[in-house]
Amino acid sequence: MRIQNTLKNKITFRGKGLHSGSMGNLTLQPAPEDTGIVFVLKDGRQKQFIPYIPDNIIDTRNNITVSNGKALVRTVEHLVAALYGMRVDNCLIETEMNEIPIMDGSALEFIEGIQETGVVEQDKEREELRIVNPVWVTSEDKFIVALPYNGLKLSYTISFPNSPIGTQTFNLDFSTESFLNKIAGARTFGFIEDLDYYRKNGLVLGGDFDNVHVFSRKENRSLNSPRYDDEPVRHKVLDLVGGIAMLNFDIKAFIISYKGGHTLDTLFAQRVMSTISGVQKVGNVYSYGSDTNYYYMLADILDLEKYPS
Ligand SMILES: [Zn+2]
Repeated sequence: MRIQNTLKNKITFRGKGLHSGSMGNLTLQPAPEDTGIVFVLKDGRQKQFIPYIPDNIIDTRNNITVSNGKALVRTVEHLVAALYGMRVDNCLIETEMNEIPIMDGSALEFIEGIQETGVVEQDKEREELRIVNPVWVTSEDKFIVALPYNGLKLSYTISFPNSPIGTQTFNLDFSTESFLNKIAGARTFGFIEDLDYYRKNGLVLGGDFDNVHVFSRKENRSLNSPRYDDEPVRHKVLDLVGGIAMLNFDIKAFIISYKGGHTLDTLFAQRVMSTISGVQKVGNVYSYGSDTNYYYMLADILDLEKYPS
């Protein structure tokens, strides 16, 4: 078992939302042991605290949206993947926007910020969960399955027939190093032919050739330069890491995703939690079976009475 980590100092980012298109600031703050990843949304003079846990995910259609029932934040997946990849277990993400900036479409700029600030060890061990019996979720022909494995290994296959993406598979033996070298820079991708549909539905208003790897089905090619030949499947691994980050512990498993995505990633995290809920207490504070316990715990850790609002 390793020791929990947080940031050495706060970091501020500025950027625009992929879907909203609006500009805003984002500040990552160090947080005490067992906090996990918590979004802090300024709501007038008040602050809304939204823990990044499976139960708080309310939309997975084109991004991961997290909510506490009063406030929400969209497109959190690449930032939380960056935190997970860098082993930043405890972090307050303060934002004035309802969407996390897309930056360059990957996790790279968040990681550069985290590396610049530094990561520090805290005073408690990070909990871990060993998958002993297979855990899986399916939807139509898609699935995610976790098998016993002494470490974290991810295997991902995507299939976009009749497109320049085709079928791609990527395997990752997860570590901070492999995440940084192979996954962190893989960008969000999409098809130019789908843009009209998205825009009509108020989506991808902030998308451009600097933050999306754009493909054309009609021309059967990529319209901007790829960072990797198999960049799309690597990006899906990045998204999956963002899904695993909902679990506030290290999972030891061989996770295989076939045509997964935000919805299946979230269902998988929820399934893992339901598998252990009531059977295993995670750490000495988390009780995922009950939201109320979590909020009491959070109030205690963050000393919410004293937290400036
Ligand atoms: Zn993504």
